[in-house]
Amino acid sequence: MSQKNPPISFVDNLTPLQLVSLDACTRCMECLQWCPVLDVTGDESLTTPEKIRIYSDLVRSQHGLRAQLFGRPEVPREVLEKLTQALYTCTTCGRCGEVCPVGINTQRLWPALRAKMVELGLGPIGGQREMPGIVAEKHNPYGRPHSERFAWIPPEVHVAEQAEIGYYCGCSGAYTAQPMVAGALRILQALGIEFTLFDDEWCCGFPLFITGELGLMEEVVRHNVAGLAARGVKHLAVSCPCCMFMLQNHWEYFNGSPLPFDIVHITQIVQPYIEAGKFPLAKELDATITFHDACYLSRGVRITEEPRAVLRQFRGARVVEMEHSQSLSRCCGAGGGIRRAYPELSIEMARNLMREAEAAGADILVIDCPACYERLHLAQQGWESRLEILDLMQIAAGLL
Ligand code: SF4
Ligand code: SF4
Repeated sequence: MSQKNPPISFVDNLTPLQLVSLDACTRCMECLQWCPVLDVTGDESLTTPEKIRIYSDLVRSQHGLRAQLFGRPEVPREVLEKLTQALYTCTTCGRCGEVCPVGINTQRLWPALRAKMVELGLGPIGGQREMPGIVAEKHNPYGRPHSERFAWIPPEVHVAEQAEIGYYCGCSGAYTAQPMVAGALRILQALGIEFTLFDDEWCCGFPLFITGELGLMEEVVRHNVAGLAARGVKHLAVSCPCCMFMLQNHWEYFNGSPLPFDIVHITQIVQPYIEAGKFPLAKELDATITFHDACYLSRGVRITEEPRAVLRQFRGARVVEMEHSQSLSRCCGAGGGIRRAYPELSIEMARNLMREAEAAGADILVIDCPACYERLHLAQQGWESRLEILDLMQIAAGLL
């Protein structure tokens, strides 16, 4: 089956730099050494240079000189289907782009190519297809009741009606990593920081954006921005790296105007208190700990030092680094919608990360991302591991 002269552009979704980057791949294959998916599947037909080759061939055949002179050739359906499979068998971890000698920013490229697959009716895949309907109805991608979004807030934590500091919780924090977000609020309160929440907070849009589904984006972003602005927020604190990436890089575009607040990570909020010697941890932690740099924290928003500054406040703890850390950290297997499309593959990736933490001699794998938190806990079930998986602010709050 083939698609006859598709009335569709293969270039309107790409920036000029992304278009150039399609031609820049030298097929050096360095990125293959770093792909967490390839580590598990061993399938080299789904890798970064293959995705780039197929898409750039499409651009050339549909928009090149020959196409302009003689018309567009038909695009074989099987080529588009192969490309779709390759684009969605990926966590969008960005590790391939990090090591790419010609600097192809894959973490930014993949969502743009996926959006094109959605436009063609080929993406997203598997359980990802249900997400827009679930988000539209429940305002979170997990299908959980909206009324329970903030049910986890510790009773002793005071949330102001209005404040300059806002906290954006995010769906993964609210529904799958509650000790993480509860820890963050306890720490804000312990530091004497007055903060507010938007009690009708919706999904930030990241799971839709990353799977190429852009239809609801304006609605969810504008709803959140208006609600936070109405509470007087000038600085919005975020724990989830994927939310942070989304808010920082894409909310302004979908909002249609500049945001009335800036975006800060929770570890950046506490940084001045640490520097001033006012981070009030009373207890000690007798354990060997290692920190996992989440893909969208280290490679997405380039935060690696601030979480380690918090780690250094854990008196008594022995901090070790894994073989791969900071901008080259291993992916936990949760990202890019792969949990819904290929759950077993994502679990294997999570176990590879845990193996690396164990090899470093850690008792506790400290994470700072709710998607990692959910995936690593799930991957532990039915698997022999002595590791404890704990969130950074969960530990800090437990040491108050
Ligand atoms: S983004 Fe990550 S999972 Fe996707 S191809 Fe690159 S290294 Fe592999
Ligand atoms: S590392 Fe970069 S240039 Fe080399 S094959 Fe991968 S994408 Fe292409």
